[in-house]
Amino acid sequence: MLDMRGFDISLRCETTWTDMGDDSQIHEISGNPHSKSLDDMEEPFIYIEDDKGGHCPYGYSFSDYSGGGCNEFFRDYGRKCNKVLRRKYRESVQQSIRNFQGRIDQLKDRGLLDSTLVIFTSDHGELLGEYGGLVSHGRPPCPELVYVPTVFIHPSIKPKMEKSIIRHVDIYPTICGMMKGSRSPRNTDGMNIFEKQPKVGMSFREGGYFKSRGFLNHFNYIGHSIWDERGGYVFHKHGKYRMMAFLLYKIIKKHPEFIYMINNNKRDPIGKRLVKYKLALHHMTNPEIKYGNPVITKEQAKKIISLYLETKDKKDERLRISVRDTKRKL
Ligand SMILES: [Zn+2]
Repeated sequence: MLDMRGFDISLRCETTWTDMGDDSQIHEISGNPHSKSLDDMEEPFIYIEDDKGGHCPYGYSFSDYSGGGCNEFFRDYGRKCNKVLRRKYRESVQQSIRNFQGRIDQLKDRGLLDSTLVIFTSDHGELLGEYGGLVSHGRPPCPELVYVPTVFIHPSIKPKMEKSIIRHVDIYPTICGMMKGSRSPRNTDGMNIFEKQPKVGMSFREGGYFKSRGFLNHFNYIGHSIWDERGGYVFHKHGKYRMMAFLLYKIIKKHPEFIYMINNNKRDPIGKRLVKYKLALHHMTNPEIKYGNPVITKEQAKKIISLYLETKDKKDERLRISVRDTKRKL
């Protein structure tokens, strides 16, 4: 979408990647688009803004938090009551909503609101001490992380709330479907949600502890999950006891991922503390976990995931071959 011809295009990260500006990783993977402000955009335009939203350190800007990054933030807030962490998270999200409303006002002031499709969404939710004291959004895939609200604003859309699901891959085909004269994109896993609605979505979390593709990869986190509007299933790939032993080691070594849990559970008696650790390990290692009351069965879920992984492997292989062939021809 960021290379559509005839459009003024901007990718803005004012509150994220604060010290990088146009050189952020998100700019790099999107082909280095400009970073113009909304007021400078000329019609027709595609304007994408990455806002800090509910990212840690909650309630502070990246440069404002006196302790520095997220690890320090969770270390500090692990010593406080969980309610304080939740309050800070709410502050962070509310700030993001205010920023978004500011953009809506800018469009209104320029008389563009009625001719602009506005979308507000998030890439993930956040864990705030659930499942024994887990925080942030790395893993495991769970309802708190995978379900995020998405809002479409346009005069042609009737205001209503839908409980059905939409996946991130559906956003691009949906935008194309709403644009006059734009064809549905090929080579996409998504669909135009105003024509058809997806029944399930998937979220895969892989890696996180080692960059290695060799032996150490056997200890990386791998959780594949599938979701519908009522719940979902998570399947952990590595053996339960191997991962449990490894994560226990990480807890003892005070890996930043568990610092909140360690500090926040410190005041509890040892028995209660152990119950919380067990709960966290269960959610990160159990081979199969069910959340909510999914419409699809576990067997259907397994089948969809393995079919997806199979076609993905074939696609990846085809891509590798074509890249190799192109390189050879060059
Ligand atoms: Zn994010």
